[in-house]
Amino acid sequence: MTLSFTYQGSAARIVFARGASARAGEWIEKLDCRRALVLSTREQADAAEALSHRLGGLSAGVFAKAVMHTPVTVTEDAVNVAARLGADCVVSLGGGSTTGLGKAMALRTDIAQIVIPTTYAGSEVTPIIGQTEGGAKTTIRTQKVVPEVVIYDAELTLGLPVGMSVTSGLNAIAHAAEGLYAEDRNPISSLMAVDGMRALKEALPVIVGDPRNVGAREKALYGAWLCGTVLGQVAMSLHHKICHTLGGSFDTPHAETHAVMLPHTIGFNAAAAGGELGPVSEIFGGSPGQALYDFARSIGSPMRLRAFGLTEADLDCAADLAAKNPYSNPRPIDRASIRFLLQEAWEGARPSV
Ligand code: NAD
Repeated sequence: MTLSFTYQGSAARIVFARGASARAGEWIEKLDCRRALVLSTREQADAAEALSHRLGGLSAGVFAKAVMHTPVTVTEDAVNVAARLGADCVVSLGGGSTTGLGKAMALRTDIAQIVIPTTYAGSEVTPIIGQTEGGAKTTIRTQKVVPEVVIYDAELTLGLPVGMSVTSGLNAIAHAAEGLYAEDRNPISSLMAVDGMRALKEALPVIVGDPRNVGAREKALYGAWLCGTVLGQVAMSLHHKICHTLGGSFDTPHAETHAVMLPHTIGFNAAAAGGELGPVSEIFGGSPGQALYDFARSIGSPMRLRAFGLTEADLDCAADLAAKNPYSNPRPIDRASIRFLLQEAWEGARPSV
């Protein structure tokens, strides 16, 4: 066997423990900061206010306007608020949308970030930032947006609704599955992908039956960290490209789109990357596409693109867009096969492999 790879570890410090978010203040001080602006979505404003209250004099206030896809207008508003309140760091409490806002602020101002993730999206450990302006979403990779500290506290995820836990968990599994066949994968990214998928495979069914099971929540969060780290380290392919296209052009919901597409894209690529996807078969039991489909169905995932209001004409347009710019993928891509995949996902059909 010949080994040849490059490896770049993440600069983010990971703090993983139940109850660890109670010590966010210590991390603000360790970063030599004095006043944190606490970020959240409107839906998590109460949790953000409670965190701000616990931080006392270390909190500059709360900015609870984070939304999906990181609109530049919201970021500019947040940057102005941070300057007005004299904030020298942010504490981002929430999922990928809130983390995205903190990263977008860091891109512009280098403000230090402490992230407390409450979903399994994984953005907190990636150098990736997607932003929207004038209806267009652009994504860049830069180490400038990598948070300084990430605090994983399973107790904060106990209230993540079951439906969102399922789709967010499948979103994380998608990072790992595509990481297994990434051209620039390395031994560490593959180890993390396998262990991350295994943790989520074990945890998600338990969470569905018992959402406040802190042991299962902890295991899912551990899996999310690993899968997110894989996303941050190696290049993604067909699956992420299609989901990006659907979300960007038709505003389909992020985690749900990943959940529906995953069995179809991985099933498609299994024909060319069967060996690399071996761990998917082993962990989920069966051929990669079918095994992921059966697992997703068993935990109550949405299974049809149709449910997001897409029409068959939209599928034509999405296939055009997804086939437009070439990108690395284990199986050659052509418009007809993408259109076929989309049709199967739209109908919710079980993949043939
Ligand atoms: P989200 O952050 O949009 O959260 C969805 C909703 O769930 C929000 O209302 C949020 O407040 C709420 N929520 C989150 N955690 C909760 C909890 N524990 N309890 C109750 N409600 C909770 O969803 P997401 O899927 O985490 O993130 C999606 C966004 O992140 C997209 O914009 C996507 O593009 C981006 N993303 C970026 C990267 C990256 O590396 N840059 C990676 C993954 C996702």
